[in-house]
Amino acid sequence: MTRRDEIAENLLLVQQRISLAATKANRNLDDVTLIAVTKSFPSSDVEILKSLGISNFGENRDSDAAPKALEIEATWHFQGQIQSNKLKSITSWAHVIHSLDDAKHFEIIEKVAIHPLEIFCQVSLDGAQGRGGVSGDELYELASMVQESPTHQLMGVMAVAPLGMPPAKAFAQLEEIQKDFITRFPKANKISAGMSGDFEEAIAFGATHIRVGSSILGSR
Ligand SMILES: *Cc1c(COP(=O)(O)O)cnc(C)c1O
Repeated sequence: MTRRDEIAENLLLVQQRISLAATKANRNLDDVTLIAVTKSFPSSDVEILKSLGISNFGENRDSDAAPKALEIEATWHFQGQIQSNKLKSITSWAHVIHSLDDAKHFEIIEKVAIHPLEIFCQVSLDGAQGRGGVSGDELYELASMVQESPTHQLMGVMAVAPLGMPPAKAFAQLEEIQKDFITRFPKANKISAGMSGDFEEAIAFGATHIRVGSSILGSR
């Protein structure tokens, strides 16, 4: 089996799972964007996915992502932990940032970004901050900052299900947080949630952007 056949087969299975989850949740398939997470995989895999119709790619590490994004035209998403000193580079290749969780980082983005970015605020669902994210007032302060920017666009909330918490419980919690969030930020109604192991649950609770790596490309 060629790498292309392998990826094509995996992708088809993922697309079928998305479709089934959307149907079950009574949601329109067009309202769920699949982001293929290509971190640690070579740009040849990105090319294969592009030829199979995928146009959104997600990365976690600037050093790994920047060369790929430079080489391949697509919509590039950054979803990893942000380091201040990497923001100049990240904002040069990324179009969407999913993992903003620090006002200081947004101040830097406003200074260094050379093009407008779409931004999700990362929410912490267990308060432990182990996997990043903010909650409560901090979330609203951060989102207000982005909303007030004349350049960048606040998209909505992002979360990763905490380790040890059932995904359905995590995403139900995120949905509740988002209901309140959109009363304050009505246009920022997107939800970035769900990975290979839990994207069906995320779709059930309203995810509009799912970030799927290993189910498509194999284990890292
Ligand atoms: C790696 C990663 C993903 C993709 O995870 P898979 O389990 O490979 O699908 C999604 N979101 C974030 C934030 C990640 O770090």
